Amino acid sequence: MRALADHLGNMPSIDADSGASRSVAVVGAGITGLVAAYELRRRGVNVTLYEASGHAGGAIRTTHADGFLAEHGPNSFVTSAPVDALLQRLDLQDDVVEANPGANRRYVVRHGMPLPFPLTPLAMLGTKLLSFRAKVRVLMEPLIRARRTPDDESVASFVRRRLGHEVLDYAVDPFISGIFAGDAETLSMAHAFPRVAELERECGSLSKGLMAQRRQRASDDPPPTAHQGAMTASPPARARLISFVDGMQTLPAALEASLTGTLRLGCPVRLVHRHESRWTVEAGPDGAARSRTVDAVVMATPAHVLAAMELPAALRKFAAPIERVEYPPVSTLTLGFRRVDVAHPLDGFGMLIPHTEKRSLLGALFSSSLFPGRAPDGYVALTCFVGGARQPERAREDTDLLVERVLSDLRQLLGVRGEPEFAQHVYWSRAIPQYTVGYQAVKDAADITEWQNPGLYLAGNYRHGVSVGDCVASGIQVADQVAAYLARAG
Ligand SMILES: Cc1cc2nc3c(=O)[nH]c(=O)nc-3n(C[C@H](O)[C@H](O)[C@H](O)COP(=O)(O)OP(=O)(O)OC[C@H]3O[C@@H](n4cnc5c(N)ncnc54)[C@H](O)[C@@H]3O)c2cc1C
Repeated sequence: MRALADHLGNMPSIDADSGASRSVAVVGAGITGLVAAYELRRRGVNVTLYEASGHAGGAIRTTHADGFLAEHGPNSFVTSAPVDALLQRLDLQDDVVEANPGANRRYVVRHGMPLPFPLTPLAMLGTKLLSFRAKVRVLMEPLIRARRTPDDESVASFVRRRLGHEVLDYAVDPFISGIFAGDAETLSMAHAFPRVAELERECGSLSKGLMAQRRQRASDDPPPTAHQGAMTASPPARARLISFVDGMQTLPAALEASLTGTLRLGCPVRLVHRHESRWTVEAGPDGAARSRTVDAVVMATPAHVLAAMELPAALRKFAAPIERVEYPPVSTLTLGFRRVDVAHPLDGFGMLIPHTEKRSLLGALFSSSLFPGRAPDGYVALTCFVGGARQPERAREDTDLLVERVLSDLRQLLGVRGEPEFAQHVYWSRAIPQYTVGYQAVKDAADITEWQNPGLYLAGNYRHGVSVGDCVASGIQVADQVAAYLARAG
């Protein structure tokens, strides 16, 4: 971290109260807003980062207790060029931990049995996860004619059409739960999995497209994002699945440390107004809000927050589709057990449970198998997810009932005995944005809103992808756009 401090000491900066023209307000200190603020500061811009809650990181939240490390939001993420560059700038390479190589193995439950998800064509032919009929249907995929109509299609419709309903139920639906806590019937193929949808458009079939991709892998193609990696069943070749020795919070903590004097915690933005060619932001706790005029504003909050804010008419006019983006609730439960009390080898990333299996649990990550230091010696840690778009009411249940329901599933599926030695529960009332059919209206609304309001930028997981890696890229991209705008504005 010393190198970071030295590096920051050399950064040009503009005095916050000097009235200098290059000042920017970033709203929301989730990973998107933190990265945007950090990158703007690095470019010499005077930034104020407003965060409504008392801590930075948004959905990224790690806690340590009784020798366990609990991740209440993301557990890991997939690297990409922008992520690697950021880690290098923050001098975090030595804190990175790569997922255990065995993490490629993912279990999917069928008829109450966790079965390894097939990762190769040969394994697909031998798997018990799909019936003989379903395998024949998969082999016929190259013969299915590509859809030529441009209208949006749900993930369920796309997969049923190309691969059959069993692949939807046992190979795609569980991954949709794992990434979006979503519903394949309502998610848009083009927006939730753009590169898979492209395979059909460009190559006529997924099999042909995947073969072409494999041939290209040796070239310098950018790796797919986390969700595309999951859709193709394993992370792409050169991308790494990572976390940090002390958990995911390391990333927002390093960004926060580099933003001293910039970050205002417990400071919700309530009003954003255009004032001639500049912007006024009113922020602060009840009765103590203060105004500040800046040259540009980056809104890096969840989409629904815009609905609760006082905004100029020109912004409100087009923002309606953004405000309506759905974020279903999710509960995460981190449970610790004595190793001897779990019969399953826990040799992989985790277990996903298709909706058709009718369980409370969406899935469980084998956290202590994935990364070192997640549980004390002789213990294991599981991160369990409940709720999402298919069973929102389940996520809202109280902790005791949730633990009881999850334990019942874990006993039957993983051979867990006895009671957990450790339990932590976090309820996310609005967890992950759903890229539903018709999502182009949200993307268009964001584009038009920015176009109609020069100096105002919208960023975050509802716009450019939900994974942590997507949000890092979104933060860097918006910082570039703002810096270019400030340079144009003189
Ligand atoms: C349970 C869960 C598990 C996940 N698992 C993974 C995973 O394993 N891998 C992965 O890659 N991704 C995962 N994700 C997705 C990923 O973590 C998120 O998409 C990403 O962290 C969102 O970052 P963000 O900055 O866009 O938004 P957020 O993290 O939502 O940050 C927005 C911030 O804005 C603040 N805010 C709101 N209103 C105001 C206001 N008026 N004024 C000021 N501030 C305001 C909020 O308090 C918050 O801090 C998971 C998400 C969840 C919820």
